[in-house]
Amino acid sequence: MEINEIVCSIIVPLYNEETVIKETYQRLKAVMDSTKETYDIIFVNDGSQDGTAEIAKEICRKDRNVKLLSFSRNFGHQAAITAGMDYSDGRAIIVIDADLQDPPEVMLQMIGKWRQGFDVVYGVRIKRKGESCFKKFTAKLFYRTLNKITDIRIPVDTGDFRLIDRKVCDALKTLPERNRYVRGLISWLGFRQTGVEFIREERFSGKTKYPLKKMNKFALDAITSFSYKPLKLATYIGSAISVFSLLILVAGLVKTRPATGVFQNLMFLITIGLFFNGLLFIMLGIIGEYIVRICDETKGRPLYIVGDKEGFL
Ligand code: UDP
Ligand code: MG
Repeated sequence: MEINEIVCSIIVPLYNEETVIKETYQRLKAVMDSTKETYDIIFVNDGSQDGTAEIAKEICRKDRNVKLLSFSRNFGHQAAITAGMDYSDGRAIIVIDADLQDPPEVMLQMIGKWRQGFDVVYGVRIKRKGESCFKKFTAKLFYRTLNKITDIRIPVDTGDFRLIDRKVCDALKTLPERNRYVRGLISWLGFRQTGVEFIREERFSGKTKYPLKKMNKFALDAITSFSYKPLKLATYIGSAISVFSLLILVAGLVKTRPATGVFQNLMFLITIGLFFNGLLFIMLGIIGEYIVRICDETKGRPLYIVGDKEGFL
């Protein structure tokens, strides 16, 4: 090991986290100081509109182990994590949320597993405290559905709270895609992976920065990145409908049903028509989701723009 080499780089994405950042810093520092490992903390300010940047800068100026990257605007959680990795030089990289839902103490177990030779140590949420039933239910459903429709195994109930080895980080940097689902990409990479279980705590303070709209985009990024099955749905549904209508046609030829009033028949036809129109539009929407992402890739814009840096050489 070279002198001054950083063993652990801890990446903390921040979006309007002025009420938690100081506490998070204290907890991270306490845990890392107890390990005697050399470390740095990389705060990535994802275009916060509150006092996050100022507080982070102040911490940076007081502590040489802390660095700050500030985006020119909000580019999203996944872009923030990616930027942190791009600018890190630790031999191990740990990604942790800023709101203390991921307990910093779990990092010790992650480092332990890494020292045993694992390249990826992800946190498995065995319980989630202080989150709405809706969030817990949709998360459970999402991770399980994703696993069913993808060919790679993405561990269920894991978030981005994880440790990755330098070689995994370097491999991840070679994947240029824009609408990133980082935890899926890490599964796709392979290497020696293992999990440590933990209880996801309540947010220390403030509100979630993942409203339904962002959660929706996140889920669609995950699905479109790792599965083409939704596109094939059109073929399956179309085939099923064709077979079904053929059966009805045959049945109609064999036995003509007595008419039960013109109005009722008309309503029946309109409802059927609307239903299949609906299905067609859903399929168009699904195709659209993929096309939007193809557009993003062809534009080739960078994933994020760094507006300001503090503490980097
Ligand atoms: N975050 C971010 N950019 C965003 C949204 C969130 O950097 O556009 C950060 C946020 O500050 C936090 C982490 O991503 O550190 C996870 O967000 P949050 O805790 O709000 O999500 P939840 O735990 O509710 O899913
Ligand atoms: Mg959170």
